[in-house]
Amino acid sequence: MEHDIDTEARKRAGRRDEAVRAAVERGLLGPEAAVVGLLDVTGIRESAAALRAAFDAVTAPGTPVLHAFAVKAAPLVPVLRLLHEAGIGAEVASPGELALARAAGMPAARTVLDSPAKTPAELREALALGVAVNADNPQELARLDAAVRSAPGRSPLGIRINPQVGGGSIGATSTATRTSKFGVALRDEGAREWVVGAYLERPWLTRLHAHTGSQGIPPALLARGVAETYALAEEINARAGRRQIDTLDIGGGLPVNFDSEATAPTYARFARLLAREVPGLFDGRYGLVTEFGRSLLAKHGTLVARVEYTKSAGGRRIAVTHAGVQVATRTVYAPQAWPLRITAYDAKGCPKTGPDVVQDVAGPACFSGDLLAEGRALPPLEQGDYAAALDTGAYYFAHHYSYNSLPRPGVYGFAPDGAGGITFATAREPQTITDIVGEAGGAHTPALAALGAPEQP
Ligand SMILES: *Cc1c(COP(=O)(O)O)cnc(C)c1O
Repeated sequence: MEHDIDTEARKRAGRRDEAVRAAVERGLLGPEAAVVGLLDVTGIRESAAALRAAFDAVTAPGTPVLHAFAVKAAPLVPVLRLLHEAGIGAEVASPGELALARAAGMPAARTVLDSPAKTPAELREALALGVAVNADNPQELARLDAAVRSAPGRSPLGIRINPQVGGGSIGATSTATRTSKFGVALRDEGAREWVVGAYLERPWLTRLHAHTGSQGIPPALLARGVAETYALAEEINARAGRRQIDTLDIGGGLPVNFDSEATAPTYARFARLLAREVPGLFDGRYGLVTEFGRSLLAKHGTLVARVEYTKSAGGRRIAVTHAGVQVATRTVYAPQAWPLRITAYDAKGCPKTGPDVVQDVAGPACFSGDLLAEGRALPPLEQGDYAAALDTGAYYFAHHYSYNSLPRPGVYGFAPDGAGGITFATAREPQTITDIVGEAGGAHTPALAALGAPEQP
């Protein structure tokens, strides 16, 4: 088993090296396209299959299981279509994400809407479409009451709870702390009784949702969040005297290994952990929804940037590349929490080999902290080489930050062409300079200068 995992990781690294070389050869990457995102379509399909197999292995036959990909992890329509065809649904948290899922052809019945700030219009749209909704708080539940009264629909509806089981190593991605902004804080005084009462008064509430956190939360803590959710559903169903809650949405958040090539923990391991800790979850009495994001995509994305210059300053060796805060925002602003592996490729896109020297890999933005990696031992990067930031398929190059008006890079998927080579498809066009001017108010150039301007004599 471990051997298989090593083999899978080795193959993935091989595909990545091959893709970087081919991208340079075909000019997808080069002096005029100095940064790109590459997506390993084979790897994405493998992860989708692994997720489905992991839950199939522990779930009673016939149990409905929807794996809804958290769209925020990779908000690209072709990625959502690829996942849809691999049997994966969508978890959306904004009108934009819902529109992306719909553009990808994702059926409403395979879509779930969670967000802490849904407007009445968003709720109406979700209900009209039949998209599942998890209410975040009592005020939102009151809006659902009104919406359900005026137009009872097909949407499965539930409440999101915060099981308050605690946070992980990264505060910003810990959603189940005592004071988290998400869901109904279950251990607050009177909260549990309020939730039970809310279900007893509303026979149409049939789901219960919790998402215990993302990167930095150990799987055992995720499992405790699931266990708390399950226990509450059992309590509500016992009080209702019927199986009112028929589906548990257990959220996502499986952490990703950013330290090496290995996929760890695997979905199989996590599913077995859940089966051990919360056996009743899988006995067929509850349908299941999962909402994994990062763990489906991260390992399958590579950010590759050309080294424009190399320099030294005060004894510090620096490679200035085209990938920085605009494509690796979290890593640049919180480098301790989000370190990335970096590999070096030569000007033809072939892996460089040692001897390693300690160097910084900087981005193009105009502030000192714009660093992809600091003090990293790598083969010496030279002008015209490429630096790749690995495991960046989720929450990186698809999450552009328009600092310095740097353009969004092109994103290309790759797969074997069946003849020993590699083939690419565009997932997102690179942003043009014309686009940048347009998005910066270019159509309104005189608007402010004309506003309240003194009359010309
Ligand atoms: C972000 C989020 C997810 C996905 O988290 P990952 O760590 O990417 O798996 C799932 N559900 C909700 C409600 C989220 O906010």
